[in-house]
Amino acid sequence: MDHSLRTLDHGRSTLSLVHVVFGDQLNRQCSVISELPKNTVVLMVEVSSASTKPVSHYQRTLLFLSAMRAFAQELTEHGQRVHYVRITDAENTHTFQDEIVRCSRLIGATSLSCVRPGSHQALTSVQDAASALQIPFQLHEDSHFFDTPQGFNQWADGRKELRLEYYYRELRKKTGILMDSPKEPSGGAWNFDSENRKPWRGSTSDLPVPVSLPEDQIVAEVRKDLAVAMPDLPGKQHGFRWPITPAAANHHLHDFIENRLPRFGDYQDAIVAGQPFMHHGLLSSSLNLKLLNPRDVVAAALDAYNKGAAPINSVEGFIRQILGWREFIRGVYWREGPLYQDRNALHHTGSLPEWFWTADTDMKCQSDAIDPVLEYGYSHHIQRLMITGNFALTSGMNPKAVSDWFLGMFVDGVEWVTEPNVIGMALHADGGIVGSKPYASTGRYVKKMSDCCKTCRYKPEVKSGPEACPMSVMYWDFFMRHEERFTRNARMFHIKRNLERFDDQERSQIKYAATELRKSLGLAGETP
Ligand SMILES: Cc1cc2nc3c(=O)[nH]c(=O)nc-3n(C[C@H](O)[C@H](O)[C@H](O)COP(=O)(O)OP(=O)(O)OC[C@H]3O[C@@H](n4cnc5c(N)ncnc54)[C@H](O)[C@@H]3O)c2cc1C
Ligand code: SF4
Repeated sequence: MDHSLRTLDHGRSTLSLVHVVFGDQLNRQCSVISELPKNTVVLMVEVSSASTKPVSHYQRTLLFLSAMRAFAQELTEHGQRVHYVRITDAENTHTFQDEIVRCSRLIGATSLSCVRPGSHQALTSVQDAASALQIPFQLHEDSHFFDTPQGFNQWADGRKELRLEYYYRELRKKTGILMDSPKEPSGGAWNFDSENRKPWRGSTSDLPVPVSLPEDQIVAEVRKDLAVAMPDLPGKQHGFRWPITPAAANHHLHDFIENRLPRFGDYQDAIVAGQPFMHHGLLSSSLNLKLLNPRDVVAAALDAYNKGAAPINSVEGFIRQILGWREFIRGVYWREGPLYQDRNALHHTGSLPEWFWTADTDMKCQSDAIDPVLEYGYSHHIQRLMITGNFALTSGMNPKAVSDWFLGMFVDGVEWVTEPNVIGMALHADGGIVGSKPYASTGRYVKKMSDCCKTCRYKPEVKSGPEACPMSVMYWDFFMRHEERFTRNARMFHIKRNLERFDDQERSQIKYAATELRKSLGLAGETP
């Protein structure tokens, strides 16, 4: 990186506005950046607290710092004044707020601004820095997203329940995306979910291999700095495959559109042991760092549909994730406020087992879902939701601890998207805001959707004894523990029916099996 980036003379007397750019705000198309007044310094800081609270995968830190440096370099080359603090800088205080205050004083800032960041905490850090400096602060909305927090609130206000399906339809009507006319969805239906639940029965050699670009000079430099500043971060250090520039992210996008989108729909929910990428986009880190614009991603998928290169169930299924889920999740994050991260509707207090950090467990489905997290900082959605999340829910792990693990250990972890997905979607700890019922399933689901059970020492149908499948045992134990709450939910009638069939002996066998498994799987802590 150009050393002048850090030693730049800021011309203290003429500079006044400091615009803070966080590591997930690397949006080249952002009009706020292109229209900054001439006397503005862009401030970017690398702080170790972003990698230690919660502890972050090595590759997540490598990705953020490399992408930040590439962005700062580009801004400087375009004549923008940038004040950049590296993780190895001696004066670095390593928290956002302290760095913003320290650097703003150095620069002689008379006002602060930023685009809405990815967390309540980051927003508070700039607001509090401005208060400490006694200078004004301006917040700009983020034009990267299709909707704004205000737009989401307008849709949500007065509704008894917030359901993705209705919000997504509203956004499709508003944007005209996948619409044949103002009221008619393309393909004649709003969703094709029923076509998108096929297990993969082919050979693994028929699965597409996603592109992986060579590491550049910036990544090599960040590696050197991390070796000095943060040598003990968890996760594998090699095999880094995540784009750090828009050009690389676009290359990945087109690889996905051409080679994986056509079968994305059919195999969206499929799990194959040792194959974490399947037909998924691998685009979340590029989207979340704003290297990709979601409009361009949607346009590329629509283009494939219009050319007949991808079927409607794939294109709609994919667009639903970007235009639907991604926007919905963000709306929930900003609507629910900073206390959402502490929600624990089911009062679960269990701690994370050691194998979340090693993948060393006899449960084949779990080791297979955690392996790629350690290897790449990634696992696909169904592994996150129906394997790792499902077990964290049914075994009673503490939601905040689980959320922190997801936030730190995935390359796409940013609070606004991780928290509602974990606290809400996976753990039902928000009491039903993101989903009306818990996403829980037994080993039978895993057997149907994956090949993991074939090589596992447990048996998915067995609920007691040495071969009892932990996914199945914990599922029934969970619903017995929370019987009163969930049997009141009309959408869970089938659970009520099943529980009624269990006699006292079967119930106590499940309870006993759950207690024994808790010990053998290293699950500590109370579970109400
Ligand atoms: C427990 C749990 C934790 C999660 N944590 C994160 C996280 O920290 N960061 C993150 O970006 N996503 C998270 N997700 C959502 C989703 O799993 C990932 O976005 C997706 O797996 C990323 O891989 P991909 O790019 O290959 O996605 P694809 O399957 O190809 O989907 C395409 C894109 O749609 C978007 N998307 C899909 N589902 C969601 C969703 N539920 N919420 C928001 N965006 C979505 C993503 O941007 C993704 O890149 C989480 C889901 C669960 C169940
Ligand atoms: S038997 Fe149970 S624990 Fe083993 S892979 Fe299947 S679902 Fe997972």
